[in-house]
Amino acid sequence: VKILFASTSEPAGRWIPALQAALPDDRFVLEPAPDVEVALVAQPPPRTFERLPHLKFIQSLWMGVDQLLANPALPRRVPIARLLDPGMIAAMTETVLAHVLDWHRLHFRYREQQAQRLWKPLPQVLAGERTIGLLGIGELGTAVGRALCARGFRVLGWSRRGKQVDGIECITDRNEVLARSDLLVCMLPLTPQTRRILNAQAFSQMPEGACLINVARGAHVVERDLVVALDSGWLTHAYLDVFENEPLDPESPLWGNPRVTITPHVAALTEPRTALPKVVENIERVRRGEAPEGLVDRVAGY
Ligand code: NDP
Repeated sequence: VKILFASTSEPAGRWIPALQAALPDDRFVLEPAPDVEVALVAQPPPRTFERLPHLKFIQSLWMGVDQLLANPALPRRVPIARLLDPGMIAAMTETVLAHVLDWHRLHFRYREQQAQRLWKPLPQVLAGERTIGLLGIGELGTAVGRALCARGFRVLGWSRRGKQVDGIECITDRNEVLARSDLLVCMLPLTPQTRRILNAQAFSQMPEGACLINVARGAHVVERDLVVALDSGWLTHAYLDVFENEPLDPESPLWGNPRVTITPHVAALTEPRTALPKVVENIERVRRGEAPEGLVDRVAGY
């Protein structure tokens, strides 16, 4: 089978030699051709799908497929799988734990105090006294939720269809999750239903003094509303990995806001060392006529 690797974000050199070694009978190419049957994509160059008339399967090299689904040239009937990468899931769990503990142990406050040369111990809160709400309990949310439960936090998980996960209180009522969460972690896919979901109304429903972690997509958050909620003191801190416009504009007021911690969309990076076996397995599944893992539901949009 001829397999196209098309990405402006993933370096081909980190993938192709290992892919070719794992699938020696297949042929990997970097330019679209009429006889390509499988495409491995992450931010493919313009005019990629237009030149693939016999495509049978698309494997995303990213977990989120919002950009891919928005591509007008995406062929309608070709199945798409998103990446389910154990290395990314582990990375996301570490990132969210790091932010949760920074907030829970009040390190964000002590950094401010250090800047003022202020020695002032603050009262300690126990993990079991904190309720953490997860927006989205899919691949990432479930792993993060389990790690937080293991640390003794109370964990709520919000999803579209409801779910059962040991230790996580699963809820489908968004108002309830917002009202009960001292700390809210957004791990939703970006769809028309979830775009701008974290807005002034949502922040006002959260308890005073709450915290937000967004590691999903920038467009989930209305940045201006967030700044108002932070500057008024209603929210104490926001950890933001993703932004409506990336890279974040050097002029953005978020950079200088002491209540915001910024990372440059690195909460979980695609990791060829752990992703490659999953990509190979999916190619083999499709070759055998089976459904790939991580099949995208185009109607739901994720
Ligand atoms: P999944 O598809 O496995 O899980 C998505 C979860 O969101 C599910 O629980 C789903 O509910 C829920 N959900 C979707 N739509 C709604 C809705 N309208 N209302 C309520 N719940 C909803 O996704 P992943 O966990 O793999 O990834 C989530 C997102 O994280 C990705 O789409 C991507 O954008 C982002 N991401 C960010 C990275 C970064 O570095 N910052 C890295 C990797 C991913 P249900 O269970 O009912 O389907």
